[in-house]
Amino acid sequence: MFDRTTVQEVKKLLAEPQKIVLISHKNPDGDTIGAALGLKHYLQQLGHEVDALVPNEFPSFYNWMPGSEKLLIFDQNAKEVQKKLENASVVFCVDFNSLDRTGNMASYIAEATGVKLMIDHHLQPSEEFDHYFSVVNTSSTGELVYSFIEAIGHLEYLNLNIALSLYTAIMTDTGSFSYACNNGKTYQIVAHLIDLGVDPTLVHRLVYDTFTENRLRLLGHSISNKLLVLEDLHAAVIYLDKDDLKNFNYQVGDTEGIVNYPLSIENVNLSVLLTEKNSLIRMSFRSKGEFDCNILARNHFNGGGHKNAAGGSSTLSMENTLLNLKEVLTNYSNELDYKISFK
Ligand code: 5GP
Ligand code: MN
Repeated sequence: MFDRTTVQEVKKLLAEPQKIVLISHKNPDGDTIGAALGLKHYLQQLGHEVDALVPNEFPSFYNWMPGSEKLLIFDQNAKEVQKKLENASVVFCVDFNSLDRTGNMASYIAEATGVKLMIDHHLQPSEEFDHYFSVVNTSSTGELVYSFIEAIGHLEYLNLNIALSLYTAIMTDTGSFSYACNNGKTYQIVAHLIDLGVDPTLVHRLVYDTFTENRLRLLGHSISNKLLVLEDLHAAVIYLDKDDLKNFNYQVGDTEGIVNYPLSIENVNLSVLLTEKNSLIRMSFRSKGEFDCNILARNHFNGGGHKNAAGGSSTLSMENTLLNLKEVLTNYSNELDYKISFK
């Protein structure tokens, strides 16, 4: 799974006490947070000084996770984060594969002199790192962290905190085991995490059953009033502008998951969520089946991700973004035209 020489080199590196920073991507999700916290709980046991850094605020439904209270947020604490980066002997990038995924933190990471490692499952990694633990066909970076600890030969270091972190990473990145989880290995790992004491029902509730009333009503509004179904294109779009967010007292994380709902319509193979954020339109893409969201996001919307889930952005107005999106999708009408079937 990983390059053997890389594993040996990193094992040697970790045999000496290091100052390690773990870095999550911007707009942190459960995978980048869970994988970073899992690594932190592991690396601390080896005697390293470890800090987990995140570019901006993370959703409150992850703040029950052990260690989340110590995450250092660049947007709120830039000086301290810069100092940690300057002093680090090892910089571990978690769940992203190019530095621009960390927003304003990117230049400080680029300047950091520590050894740069990446552990990630996205397509097309950049060449900014010293060591790569990059496996594309994996459910999540959380799963890769487990495999990393296994490759080092340290599974005996797994404990409940690591297990909770990695379970949350895997659960959230597979939409509760509904996509990107077709390998038996994922379930063997999950079984081990449960044996270590993870309560899957509880984790599910802590992450998914902790909505505010406003968040649930924003979901209802999105589906009832802000959904366009482009039947001919087998695609659907939800577009939320600043007023929609304001009216439902938007909090970080409130739009998470909304993009998945249009895919439950039969024959809708692509769903796009447009969200007006500051001066940009954030774009989230989800597909079912063969349609490649990564290519769409990379080629047209300054983004990327996976085949079935990607993100990007547009600097046009909401109205023009919608027009542009429809025009772009028209060029993909053949790729979007298929039926999901059981063969
Ligand atoms: P989401 O729609 O949940 O924000 O992101 C879906 C997937 O695409 C995630 O795996 C995320 O890491 C990736 N992604 C989201 N936004 C971007 C982006 O702007 N650039 C790239 N390269 N990947 C993104
Ligand atoms: Mn991920």
